[in-house]
Amino acid sequence: MRLFKYFRNIIKFVKFGGITTLEITQKTGYESLKGLKIVITGGTSGIGLTVAKRFIEEGATVLITGRSEQKLSEAKAKIDSSNLLTYLWDLNDYNQYNNHLKIILQKTSKIDVFINNAGILTNLNEKNNQLEDWNAIFNINLKSMYFNTLWICENLLTKNSIVKVINISSMSEAIYEVDPYNISKSGISSMVKGFAKEYAAKGLIVNAIAPGVVATKMTNLESQTNAYRENNPSKRNAVPEEIAEFILFISSSSCYYLQGQTIFIDGGESIR
Ligand code: NAD
Repeated sequence: MRLFKYFRNIIKFVKFGGITTLEITQKTGYESLKGLKIVITGGTSGIGLTVAKRFIEEGATVLITGRSEQKLSEAKAKIDSSNLLTYLWDLNDYNQYNNHLKIILQKTSKIDVFINNAGILTNLNEKNNQLEDWNAIFNINLKSMYFNTLWICENLLTKNSIVKVINISSMSEAIYEVDPYNISKSGISSMVKGFAKEYAAKGLIVNAIAPGVVATKMTNLESQTNAYRENNPSKRNAVPEEIAEFILFISSSSCYYLQGQTIFIDGGESIR
């Protein structure tokens, strides 16, 4: 039987010029998270912090980045695990992004999953569309994601390794408004498709998730208060925990064939 497969592969190779073998793991998804090294940008609050907590509960090591030493310490106190590492990094510091990522890699020794989570919302109380708003939003919501992903492609992909990059978009990407936040998030879909096309064969698995309204600091909503949301088909907001659970699934060994996609987790709100 083995000999037959061997010759069949040789015939395939001659005919099509390549052989791909698959190793389907016997581990359950969550077991496969144990020992993984995860990096989360902007992980001191909201979705990022919840994701960090869940990964650590499953035995992964997580490095969160943040802009403030105090917030990083607070996050460390909340999670209270030696598997949580922190790194001070304002993502606006572009010129140094190469160095920051190098130091992060030294701290974690490898990176299995990189989560581009940090994001800022357009300040709707002020007049938006101004150049500063545009630059601030695009710098964090799109430019930092692009350059982090590019660095990973150029520095981490070796012949036998797989690196997953998960970018946090938003359902706003499918809500067309003259608003830099929505437009910056739309760019993520195009970006993940581009990176997938170019780097999947080298071991990159890159996707985005697009949450609906989630109870975090960004939305000023609390998980504990009323989650009712009239214009959502499911009539409610999301909590960070359910977004985190999906990120754990994408990061696990149960999910190796999702590539270049944006998955909406929004109770159906973006359906038009
Ligand atoms: P949050 O405000 O709690 O988290 C955003 C994080 O990004 C914060 O920790 C913040 O410090 C960090 N950040 C912002 N600018 C930074 C910078 N210059 N350098 C480093 N870190 C920076 O809100 P959240 O809801 O947890 O947001 C996480 C992601 O989810 C964002 O990308 C956001 O756009 C996206 N999202 C949120 C919602 C929602 O309703 N909350 C919905 C869809 C998408």
